Amino acid sequence: MPEKRKHADFIKGIGVSPGIVISGAYVIKRGLEGEAQYCHLTSEDSVHETMRLKKALEDSRDQLQRVRAKMKSDGREEEHIQIIDAHLMIMQDNMLVGDTIKIIEEERINAEWALKKVLKRLMDHFKGVDDDYLRERSYDFEHIVSRIIYNLTGRHEDYSLTGIKEPAIVVAHNLSPADTAQMSKDKVLGFITDLGGKTSHTAIMARALEIPAIVGLENATIKINTGDTVIIDGTTGTVIINPPENVIAVYRKKQKRYADYDRTLHHYRDLPCETKDGRSISLRGNMELIDDVTSLKEHGAEGIGLYRTEFLYMNRRDLPTEEEHYRAYSEVARKVFPHPVIIRTLDIGGDKDLPGLNPSEEPNPALGLRAIRLCLSHRDVFKAQLKGVLRSSTEGNVKIMFPMISGVGELRMAKAILDEAKAELVREGKHFNACIEIGIMIEVPAAAVIADLLVKEVDFISIGTNDLLQYSLAIDRSNEHVAYLYEPYHPAILRIIKSVAEAAIKAGVDVGVCGEMAGEPEYALILLGFGIQTLSMNAISILKVKRLMRSINYSWAKQICDEIGEFATSMEVQRHISARLPEFYSDEFSR
Ligand code: PEP
Ligand code: MG
Repeated sequence: MPEKRKHADFIKGIGVSPGIVISGAYVIKRGLEGEAQYCHLTSEDSVHETMRLKKALEDSRDQLQRVRAKMKSDGREEEHIQIIDAHLMIMQDNMLVGDTIKIIEEERINAEWALKKVLKRLMDHFKGVDDDYLRERSYDFEHIVSRIIYNLTGRHEDYSLTGIKEPAIVVAHNLSPADTAQMSKDKVLGFITDLGGKTSHTAIMARALEIPAIVGLENATIKINTGDTVIIDGTTGTVIINPPENVIAVYRKKQKRYADYDRTLHHYRDLPCETKDGRSISLRGNMELIDDVTSLKEHGAEGIGLYRTEFLYMNRRDLPTEEEHYRAYSEVARKVFPHPVIIRTLDIGGDKDLPGLNPSEEPNPALGLRAIRLCLSHRDVFKAQLKGVLRSSTEGNVKIMFPMISGVGELRMAKAILDEAKAELVREGKHFNACIEIGIMIEVPAAAVIADLLVKEVDFISIGTNDLLQYSLAIDRSNEHVAYLYEPYHPAILRIIKSVAEAAIKAGVDVGVCGEMAGEPEYALILLGFGIQTLSMNAISILKVKRLMRSINYSWAKQICDEIGEFATSMEVQRHISARLPEFYSDEFSR
């Protein structure tokens, strides 16, 4: 009998990384454990429930033993194998198993819910412990409980990215930036998620890795099954599930157009970035992982405008040492010399979680102990990084930048710790550039308002529009429900950026933009018009923005900025730009 045609469907999300992929789907159910339902049991049920828990524990142990055996045969380091051993031991721990069984029996609740209760109790306990090592162990408990819950709900095959055998489009409820950092382009042809916004860190990672991606689809994991054929268009945010042949043919043609477009863009690689009337703009790259440098250089980046160093801290169980920082930053500095490298100090918190370092349960993580605030409260962690950065500054092209500064007092505190780090290095006889340039990110509205005061204390500033929009417009950057409010053309945002740029230019301090706005030609036009000459972005945006710059006059960009100053809504600004820009520039694959 011929196979029954699968039902075609269409969903729309937020396209965050361009490119078209037509492939089979691989659905990861992880991230749905939050949906474990509460269930009240009768006394007979509770006996059965305990057995169910024991079976899930047995399955989890078997899986881990298999993972361990595979790691051994692959010759993986002993240190990694010990992690699995530790997990196996925790599974026998009375605090976890004994307490869960007790709750099932005494409170007559189902195993999933009882496990969640025990985990919560353990996390609260670890939070209060004054020992970094022990606090990190809470991370292990979280992993193990997730695994057991997956086994209880029968979803264990879908547990992680490691299960992908064939190249596929990954479909997930959510992916953390740490997950994305581990993705291999050979296996993950593209990915789509239920959650997320355009400037969430997972989206930023997708662009850095040049993997087409769509986020904020809300119910992709429900509508798509592993094995379904899926088309994703990372520019428009379109997902087509089980498309008919004629639709596949249309997208194959678009895929070809995209490949041609990409090839054409590469002609701009070695051309200078300047407008038709001779205004030069420096286009730098944003990087997360050391490997990003190669791709940024291939796309003609003139140095690194934003090194998101938090990725050095992820997917590991300890903290990077001063020596590791030093080695990583020196390597990047050497690779991009003579262009500059701006090393941003640790910006953990918000949507970049680092269990054991940032508090795991804050009511408002974006407004919590994030970035510079976290560093100021963990001076030793901060100082190890600062000393690594300082030592790498002997390469001659390293600058340092503090994220999320909200006032002059906070900046001075960060600078005081930098001075302490310098003094320690002097005592230790280690070399560094004593005049290393210091900059800050302008991401908090308060900092934008007092930009004239802040620029007196630094060598450069960089506007982080992702957070500046999040905090100014009060929209969580990773929440798909408010993603429609992400409006770079909002008159408030335009006024803020304009006034920050003016304050810096007046003081003779370098001003750049390193948020995602810098990498979108339409917005880059406005930044140019405001007088900003340094833009930093992901690799795939560099050539698009250069093409725009080479197509227009600076005087025209300034005129456009004057014209849009009159408008009251972002829609009016958008319409105006959409009407004027095609006179000089058009791009099927932008936005
Ligand atoms: C920003 O906020 O614009 C920025 C560049 O920093 P991040 O995206 O890493 O928060
Ligand atoms: Mg930021």
